[in-house]
Amino acid sequence: MKNRRSVLLGAAATGAAASTLPAPAIAQGRRRLKLVTTWPKNLPGLGTAAENVAKWIKQASEGDLDIKVYAAGELVGAFDAFDAVSGGAADMYHGAEYYWQGKSQAFNFFAAVPFGLTASEMNSWIYWGGGQELWDELSAQFNIKAFMCGNSGVQMGGWFNKKVTDVEDFSGLKIRMPGLGGEVMRRMGASVVALPGGEIYTSLQQGVIDATEWVGPWNDLVFGFYKIAKYYYWPGFHEPGTSLSLGINLDVWNSLTKSQQTIIQMATAAQNDFTLAEFNANNGSALATLVNKHDVQLRRFTNEALAKIGNLSGEVVREAGESDGISRKIYESFISSRKDSIRWSRISDEAYWEARRLPFEYG
Ligand code: CA
Repeated sequence: MKNRRSVLLGAAATGAAASTLPAPAIAQGRRRLKLVTTWPKNLPGLGTAAENVAKWIKQASEGDLDIKVYAAGELVGAFDAFDAVSGGAADMYHGAEYYWQGKSQAFNFFAAVPFGLTASEMNSWIYWGGGQELWDELSAQFNIKAFMCGNSGVQMGGWFNKKVTDVEDFSGLKIRMPGLGGEVMRRMGASVVALPGGEIYTSLQQGVIDATEWVGPWNDLVFGFYKIAKYYYWPGFHEPGTSLSLGINLDVWNSLTKSQQTIIQMATAAQNDFTLAEFNANNGSALATLVNKHDVQLRRFTNEALAKIGNLSGEVVREAGESDGISRKIYESFISSRKDSIRWSRISDEAYWEARRLPFEYG
């Protein structure tokens, strides 16, 4: 204890910010790290996941890893979080990897792709199917090490002020949709914009866009979209289980002790489950509030529209996988894991859900 205390005092006495010191000098003792997020302040589920994982890491490290969390715009803009961490202006980000698709299309696979993997299937691929190793290889090109750190579960199709029944109805639609789902909408004839969460409401309210997806009932209720949009479409084909991520500057990561690295790895894995459970625990009641209290009209995308969207999704995801060498490796691994998941889920999850909906008495 005495030794550790003197190390801390020694570091403090230099008067320099920890992040400006060379790595070996700060490998021991207290670190103050900056975590920038892509989320509005205190946003339930997404924003609170970042706050909570920072708290867990601090507590588990007995205060040695002291992480300050910045909402989007507080230190850098939502979409600048990646560059900030890559370049060292911040130490960590919490966001969704599809926001970085301008760097490489391959990043989409580590958040969500249309008609891709569910949360449980993402875990299979990343933890056990070679996904993490490929992600490490991709992120290292940008001086970053990233982990899954939360999952939204299946999202909703979004809020629409125009009905989309036939395939043709998507033509001319002005919609906010991130990632490859946005590209699919573009091929359906829609005009697609990328907006961070904090800018969506005003755009929809002012008619700059006709439709937007965000997350699901719980988050969408908080944003109040029911006040300005008529129809709430399902299912969210574009984000069947969006993985959130914690990215760390690779130099910072490499300067941590093995124990500190393990704490981060364990905390992010725990947060991954914790957030998914939080979404699933809150979405059902939020949906009931939207429908019963706010008279939201739920509408399911037609099978005709979904089949067309499915075909375009396959095309768009394949093209993303052909964009460069590492994208190809990632695409092939992803598709192989998706095939395995479909083979098993057909007679496990899917079969069970179908069976549970049979008209028998229970509870
Ligand atoms: Ca979304």
